[in-house]
Amino acid sequence: MTPVTVFAGKKIALFGLGGSGLATARALKAGGSDVLAWDDGAEGVSRAAAEDIATGDLREADWSGFAALVLSPGVPLTHPEPHWSVRLAREAGVEIIGDIELFCRERRAVAPAAPFVAITGTNGKSTTTALIAHVLAQAGRDVQMGGNIGTAILSLEPPAEGRVHVIEMSSFQIDLTPGLDPTVGVLMNITPDHLDRHGTMEQYAAIKERLVCGAGLAVIGVDDGPSRAIADRRDGETVRVHVPSGEVLSTDALTVRDGVVRNPDGTALADVNGIGSLRGAHNWQNAAVALAVARALRLSGEEIQAGLTSFPGLPHRMEEVGRRGNVLFVNDSKATNADSTEKALTAFRDIHWILGGKAKEGGIFPLVPYFERVAHAYLIGAASDAFAATLEGVVPYTRCETLDVAVPKAAENAAASGAPEPVVLLSPACASYDQFRNFEIRGDRFRELVRALL
Ligand code: ADP
Repeated sequence: MTPVTVFAGKKIALFGLGGSGLATARALKAGGSDVLAWDDGAEGVSRAAAEDIATGDLREADWSGFAALVLSPGVPLTHPEPHWSVRLAREAGVEIIGDIELFCRERRAVAPAAPFVAITGTNGKSTTTALIAHVLAQAGRDVQMGGNIGTAILSLEPPAEGRVHVIEMSSFQIDLTPGLDPTVGVLMNITPDHLDRHGTMEQYAAIKERLVCGAGLAVIGVDDGPSRAIADRRDGETVRVHVPSGEVLSTDALTVRDGVVRNPDGTALADVNGIGSLRGAHNWQNAAVALAVARALRLSGEEIQAGLTSFPGLPHRMEEVGRRGNVLFVNDSKATNADSTEKALTAFRDIHWILGGKAKEGGIFPLVPYFERVAHAYLIGAASDAFAATLEGVVPYTRCETLDVAVPKAAENAAASGAPEPVVLLSPACASYDQFRNFEIRGDRFRELVRALL
């Protein structure tokens, strides 16, 4: 745990008692603050009370005594409208911050030279965060990884000389971190997402930009317009990362072509080809970004290549689950929309594609250009009728209703297909909640079914 000492002896209002809220309350308490915590749900409040954290309805509190409101990132700060606790804090002139801001202040107080890497972007945050942490750990560094991925930041070990914090940040977390000052700030990409919570694309991009504004070194993916504009505006040390899909848009970038990461002068720095966990051009961006961060933290070329090569990947993201004969089984349950599934369809051929669930707007129409890579489709869940209509006459398909039916059927067809390396791919392009509580449970079920076959 990282005790937060910078508010020792001060009164703090804390709203939101999920996992990170509870961790924050513990860290503030351990550092000597007087915390009053609350949540709109009774469960969080009783969990806090059970740990001896003071709880009380903040609507009835005297706000003049609070030094800050610490808000959970899931609680609306601006859109669709500010939460009542935000309005009360503003009326009382109390600053509103999140747990990563507390970390930043604590780091400045106890170990300002401790390396801190912060990662954001619309897509690829978790993969890149895990990859950076893996590469550093493989090279023998003391690494703490968390934030929006896995462990809440204040549950990690405290910042210390020689210890690297690798922290994934959502836009909501950036919005609550006015003093964000990472040693290395990474912005992967910006595409429309969560606009319901950020208003316009401009507001969303402006929040993402704040992560690199205060960074010593910025690493920015320049494949999309908004990110490129941010890189152009920045006047601090910057590494650009470019994965051209056609036209070369930046000549002063680390550039990845055919899986090889190169310096602007053309010298090769790392080769991602043949690394199962880093298939596809989107993962080339993730790898090049990780390389840039690792170089900034003084890892050697050999250490970086070895770290990339041994990356096990994250579960549910094009995760290789096993092989039976020449058939490869891949769990891409995290692909809950067509955009994500597109990445998987471009990474393989002779695909036995398991898809369906609760469809997103547009369904699988955007994937039509990749249908030639699909040998057969296996439909599950609520979207079956709609998806069958899109596949009709182009891709042979079987209505399977459930994963339990689809997996053995797909395995059998793939084995009998005669293709050199057929792939049974769960990449649903749908939310899971018509049949599964979340994408993790859906992917876990796929893994179980595959293991039963192996
Ligand atoms: P996030 O944490 O930002 O949601 P993940 O690393 O969990 O991202 O990846 C989620 C999905 O996003 C992956 O399954 C893949 O389809 C896609 N993805 C991963 N990396 C990138 C990238 N660099 N650019 C675009 N899409 C990506």
